[in-house]
Amino acid sequence: MHEVVVVGAGYAGLPAAKRLARQVRKDEVRVTLVTAFPDFVERPRLHQMATGQEIVRVPLTRFLRGSAIDVVIGSVTGIDLDRRELTIVAEDGVTSRRYDTLVYALGSNIDTTTVPGIGEHARNLTGFAAAETAVTDLAALQESGGRVVVCGGGLTGIEIASEIAEHYSNIETLLVSHSQPGHWLSPKARNYLDRTLSRLEVDVIAGVRIREITANQLVLANDAAIDFDMCFWAGGFRVPTLAREAGLAVNSHDRALVDTTLRSISHPDVYVIGDAAAAAGSWGDELAMGCRSGGFTGPQVADIIAARLTGRDPNPFRFRYFHECISLGRKHGLVQFLNADESPKNRILTGHKAITYKNATLNGAKTLFKHPGPMFSRRRHLSERTIADTGQRQNAPARRS
Ligand SMILES: Cc1cc2nc3c(=O)[nH]c(=O)nc-3n(C[C@H](O)[C@H](O)[C@H](O)COP(=O)(O)OP(=O)(O)OC[C@H]3O[C@@H](n4cnc5c(N)ncnc54)[C@H](O)[C@@H]3O)c2cc1C
Repeated sequence: MHEVVVVGAGYAGLPAAKRLARQVRKDEVRVTLVTAFPDFVERPRLHQMATGQEIVRVPLTRFLRGSAIDVVIGSVTGIDLDRRELTIVAEDGVTSRRYDTLVYALGSNIDTTTVPGIGEHARNLTGFAAAETAVTDLAALQESGGRVVVCGGGLTGIEIASEIAEHYSNIETLLVSHSQPGHWLSPKARNYLDRTLSRLEVDVIAGVRIREITANQLVLANDAAIDFDMCFWAGGFRVPTLAREAGLAVNSHDRALVDTTLRSISHPDVYVIGDAAAAAGSWGDELAMGCRSGGFTGPQVADIIAARLTGRDPNPFRFRYFHECISLGRKHGLVQFLNADESPKNRILTGHKAITYKNATLNGAKTLFKHPGPMFSRRRHLSERTIADTGQRQNAPARRS
């Protein structure tokens, strides 16, 4: 039995596991999905959840129904790349799991390391727990009245600020950013964004650096201070340090270095996908973190691994950008169409059409998780070479570096 373990069941890991399981024989390959939560965390809707909207939590079992995938709910806390073994902390204790092929898809978290005080005094929306706490606290602030500051003028900050401004008439929303919110968009899109933020009464302070966050103030680099009752931090993403600590080759942002088949350049039995990978587009640049890029690595890595296990040459990873969808509350949105290399086209969609488009895109991703293809799959036998390699590994004493 060749053991493939996929860690992380997000936008990249979930379709990777499911599509791979459709292409291999279950008497020859066991696909196991190890992930921290039993429900799929739809991160691009967490700001909706934080403002009290009913977001359907979909259990992973619903996506995996009918597939022969073993699921382990637990946190991966260590990877021994020599022994090919994971340490997993689950509800019933600490376990380990051996693999022959590992797919690492642990995603990213909001980076809370860049400014002192973020961890203690600011919230970030990376999971259900944070969103649920925000619901209660925002409702209380709506009662009493007060100010929310959102730090970061990227997509996440813009979406959080717009959602709060639209939902709470008694809360003053302030978006504070080093650069102009949406500065990477086309002029037409920026113009629409500025007008919509102003219509939603989101105040914007741009061109400032936050030096520190205290219990109720942002302290800026020029010593000015901005008071707040509640602060959300959205100053960029960072991947977990687990890959680096395990010894995988990573870049300066701890994203794993991979070749054109998404395989670790240091450990050929490890593939890295989603936000965790420093995968490059055909134009040479590292892909930005986001489901609009990472989501494409999952299905492709499945095909790559299936091809290698069954003795075929895999196609290299291919990707081009197409669009960026930004929600501005529930009534407005902005879709920026993109060139292959992520530079903005002049084409945009706005208003209700754009928010409908974004909803359709997010729902489409979930449909893809249920039916990730391939439509007509031939379950090929493992190649002689894979069988020999797997046997050798399983019988060999653990290598030590
Ligand atoms: C508020 C918010 C809004 C966003 N909006 C957008 C958007 O509009 N468009 C866009 O393109 N991107 C958006 N993003 C980014 C997007 O969500 C991520 O880029 C995407 O989820 C990355 O996919 P992934 O599979 O790499 O990671 P994730 O989807 O985060 O999946 C990681 C998986 O790993 C699991 N996991 C993590 N650590 C462990 C561990 N130690 N052990 C076991 N399991 C673990 C997690 O539970 C999860 O299942 C948003 C993010 C946030 C936080």
